[in-house]
Amino acid sequence: MSERRVVRTADVVVVGAGAVGASAAYHLAAAGAGRVLVVEREATVGTGSTGRCAGGFRHQFSSAVNIALSQASIPMIKAFSETHDLPLEVSTDGYLFLVRDEETWQEYLTAAGLQRRMGVDVRLLSTAEVTDLVPGLRVDDVVGATYCPDDGIADPAGLTQGYIGAARRRGVEVALGTAAVELLTRRGRIVGLRTTAGDVGTETIVNATGPWAADLALTAGVEVPVWPLGRRVVVTGPFRGAPERRTLVVDAGTGFYFHREGPGVLMGMGARDERPGFAFGDGFAFGGTATPDDRFLSEELIPVAVSVLPELEGASVAHQWIGYYEMTPDAHPVLGPVAGVPGLFLANGFSGHGFQHAPIVGKLLAEWICDGAARSVDVSALGLERFAEGKPLREARVV
Ligand SMILES: Cc1cc2nc3c(=O)[nH]c(=O)nc-3n(C[C@H](O)[C@H](O)[C@H](O)COP(=O)(O)OP(=O)(O)OC[C@H]3O[C@@H](n4cnc5c(N)ncnc54)[C@H](O)[C@@H]3O)c2cc1C
Repeated sequence: MSERRVVRTADVVVVGAGAVGASAAYHLAAAGAGRVLVVEREATVGTGSTGRCAGGFRHQFSSAVNIALSQASIPMIKAFSETHDLPLEVSTDGYLFLVRDEETWQEYLTAAGLQRRMGVDVRLLSTAEVTDLVPGLRVDDVVGATYCPDDGIADPAGLTQGYIGAARRRGVEVALGTAAVELLTRRGRIVGLRTTAGDVGTETIVNATGPWAADLALTAGVEVPVWPLGRRVVVTGPFRGAPERRTLVVDAGTGFYFHREGPGVLMGMGARDERPGFAFGDGFAFGGTATPDDRFLSEELIPVAVSVLPELEGASVAHQWIGYYEMTPDAHPVLGPVAGVPGLFLANGFSGHGFQHAPIVGKLLAEWICDGAARSVDVSALGLERFAEGKPLREARVV
């Protein structure tokens, strides 16, 4: 790095101001990390995946590490308002999974067993109980259903803005409209970050760039298997029979999900033509102008939606958008220091559930950077090296 170009220095630079970067910035400041700088290329925070997120949080995962992350993170979401004296909309009406085939149900029973052993209050519901909980669901072929009352929905924008505000109050600087261009290394170690506003001298960088994470890591020669996957969301207008509760219902076989949103529901589902990449455009406008196409709506989403909640037949589309999941090969995040590049930390690839894990991930990053080890949750299985070592994990509940 040429000294001439260094325009500032920082003890830690967090690249990306989505839910993960915001939480990292706050927790680093709270842990006494020194001068923390957040570099965000857009003019406002939370416009990436976080800005497209459905806001769900749940304990109902199939892998122990994801359950453990939820057990640590969800209490932080629920206590956010009290902890930070900031408003955050949180509903705890649970997640309800509906399973319509025997083979999948056996998998759900196995996962529920693991969840229970880890202390999660997950319940197996009869179809009568399902109907009591969310009237109007089609249950004639439901083989089984799982429900966790401690799951729910919160506001991703509120959480992100809240963490950024709390971080700023603790002295964190946030450079908006500033893109990270290159991770600068000397003899393999991080020595700085090249940005569109000049070079920043630093020995510690957190890559929290969501679906763009692989590109930034590659500038230091680090290959991170994270890729964007476009996901469509539709919010309906009011309709007769719209559920009262905000329970997030997932139809296991199709991946269709919905929850009450305003006078209608927010709903989504993977598409048949899904493929990795920024298929709907990149940058701030990613998904901002792109919306689900008519074919997806009429041939895929609406038939499934109506088969799960028949009253949706009468619903109109109020608004819709597309955002990107940041996927990894095993649907688990890549978290922690990079062995070959001292000073570089990754918090990427949350595979559709990064909002809910952002609070604890920020804390874990602060522990790594300030104390030398992540202690709150054992996330040793989530390091980048797992792919080279042939130790990928497995998560069956990507919604
Ligand atoms: C449709 C949809 C529904 C979802 N539903 C849920 C859900 O119900 N529950 C849940 O937990 N998760 C959900 N997710 C996933 C969740 O939104 C993401 O996992 C999470 O928001 C990732 O946060 P992040 O901070 O890592 O990334 P992002 O929010 O994408 O933030 C990355 C930031 O980095 C910035 N950036 C990128 N490159 C650079 C650069 N070179 N220089 C500077 N800045 C840069 C971007 O502008 C962006 O602001 C959903 C996602 C989508 C798309």
